[in-house]
Amino acid sequence: MDCLFCKIVNGEIPSTKVYEDETVYAFKDINPVAPVHVLIIPKQHLSSINDVNAENSAVIAHIYEVAAKLAKEFGISENGYRMVSNCGADAGQTVFHLHFHLLGGKKLNIKMC
Ligand code: AMP
Ligand code: ZN
Repeated sequence: MDCLFCKIVNGEIPSTKVYEDETVYAFKDINPVAPVHVLIIPKQHLSSINDVNAENSAVIAHIYEVAAKLAKEFGISENGYRMVSNCGADAGQTVFHLHFHLLGGKKLNIKMC
């Protein structure tokens, strides 16, 4: 499949990895919008939140566990951070492999839309 983030998981495209296990991969966003901007993705190809179902949803809970661990590691767990997943055109999704932006390290704009 011609998917940018599948290629990153497979090592065909380089990335700055910050975490990996059997089901999850996390790496630095190439165009950070905050001092900490990490993308956390399932290794399994899911296009967006629309693909989440009873069979595969355990990985989503695991992604949040990884987010909490990384927030601690990057020193942002106390001051705060945000997890964002854009789904589809109206949300501005540009890469169609499900991903969660972990954003922190500054006071984030509270505008949600
Ligand atoms: P979204 O707009 O929510 O689909 O987010 C896609 C994100 O992927 C953007 O923040 C991009 O900066 C990021 N991105 C695109 N290509 C790469 C890459 N090769 N390595 C790391 N991050 C990337
Ligand atoms: Zn993919």
